[in-house]
Amino acid sequence: MIYYKSTRGNGKRYAFSEAILKGIADDGGLFVPEILPQITLENLKLLQNTSYQEKSIFLLNLFQPDYANGIIRRIIHKAYSSNFDSAEIAPLVHLKNTLYVLELWHGPTSAFKDLALQIMPIFFSEALHKDNKKRISNDEKPLHYLILVATSGDTGKAALEGYKNKKDITIMVFYPHGHVSQLQELQMNTQEGSNVAVYSVDGDFDTTQSLVKDIFNDREFNNRLFSEYQTVVSSANSINWGRLAPQIIYYISSYLDLVDKKVIKLGEKIDIAVPTGNFGNILAAFYVKKMGLPIRKLICASNENNVLTEFLRTGIYDVSNRTLIQTPSPSMDILISSNIERLLFTIINNSEQVSRWMHELKADGKFEVDNRVKAILQQEFYADWVSNINCLQNIKKIFHETNYLMDPHTSVAQAVVEKYLKQDGDTLPMVICSTAHFAKFPNDVYKALKGDSAAPPADEFKTLELIFEYIRGGSVPKSISSLKNKRIRFNKKCNADIDLAENLIIENIVS
Ligand SMILES: *Cc1c(COP(=O)(O)O)cnc(C)c1O
Repeated sequence: MIYYKSTRGNGKRYAFSEAILKGIADDGGLFVPEILPQITLENLKLLQNTSYQEKSIFLLNLFQPDYANGIIRRIIHKAYSSNFDSAEIAPLVHLKNTLYVLELWHGPTSAFKDLALQIMPIFFSEALHKDNKKRISNDEKPLHYLILVATSGDTGKAALEGYKNKKDITIMVFYPHGHVSQLQELQMNTQEGSNVAVYSVDGDFDTTQSLVKDIFNDREFNNRLFSEYQTVVSSANSINWGRLAPQIIYYISSYLDLVDKKVIKLGEKIDIAVPTGNFGNILAAFYVKKMGLPIRKLICASNENNVLTEFLRTGIYDVSNRTLIQTPSPSMDILISSNIERLLFTIINNSEQVSRWMHELKADGKFEVDNRVKAILQQEFYADWVSNINCLQNIKKIFHETNYLMDPHTSVAQAVVEKYLKQDGDTLPMVICSTAHFAKFPNDVYKALKGDSAAPPADEFKTLELIFEYIRGGSVPKSISSLKNKRIRFNKKCNADIDLAENLIIENIVS
């Protein structure tokens, strides 16, 4: 069996289901598999011409999750079904020349987070129920879990959809007031389900995230939750291994799609470009490469919060002189990319060194890797970034060139790809991750198409209508159009105050 261990190495080993329930290791590290399973060309050949679901079952089983095979099959078929508006789940579309777009937004919330967050909650609740059965038979009280989420927009909604109405679980989402798009806000505030709650926080994403982190780290409060309410706090963001494993699947499926389209022969290399924030999505691509999928370069695309560009080029991670900048790609507005920790651990396999770097980052806002690691980063990744203006200009340019309208996050990746192609003569087929549907970001897409001086209407639904008139085709995804008639269930704003937030938590658990 493959076990999971912490990047900060307290030596303990955990099964897949335990890693998912715990979210983060007791020593503060992140869970990683002890060995990465390998995937051979024969495996790939067998997966050709199978459905996304069949590929998922095969690939997740490589990680030897401690669930009965019938359960994995059931989980996959539940997670990837008519809740996606494409039978292919993650279709690959030709953009131009050697460029292909991997559309990861056909799920219920129109962002790539669905690919993981439609599955992970089912894994989570299966593990919880197994655990609770054991507790009950030992005459212990069953546990309740509280999933706490700080979101810049997309994770919150995807986690709410995944965890809604799950037994013995409550989910609470906090988002920064005024820092998500109107439609993202509406997606969250109209959320259905009996175990969900949503609050906006007076502050930006950093404030919101530190509020949630402070609650995680408040020992006394966590002890009280456990002793009085049998409740354990856990996380749905990409520090959880359950978010990463399902993301491996679509890279392999896109590779096989290129083989199907006769763009490459089995065994030939491709490049992959990913618009990056917390480094979860691109880390899955890195794992896939280590597992043996023929990938040449991983292109790490950033917006003006370009700390990762600097890091992957120089080996210096430095946020000490940076403040978060607002961009048209809010889901990438992040300075501390948690999954860098997993990347470094995978490269050096030395938990003491990883702990030192992470402690330096926390204490001084920076750390520097040695020359050997730096050389590996430069070898594996091409990193670059685009300005806010260039991101929007690129949306219009690509639309006029190809008739394909992309969202601002995807545009960041595509614009970085253009830079990469200019400096590198030897082109390979390129898979560009499209992480959200453009309809989630009407104001910026409207500005992109009509020019910066054009003020969009106050109502984002109206703005969407104008965008669809302009592009003459397509239709608003159901996840967005259906919001118009939904009742607003949540509109409470709270201060970034830990006592207040903890009282809200108790209220929600009790009710
Ligand atoms: C979350 C998100 C990203 C960033 O993904 P990471 O895994 O955090 O790097 C990019 N684009 C969109 C639309 C997202 O929602």
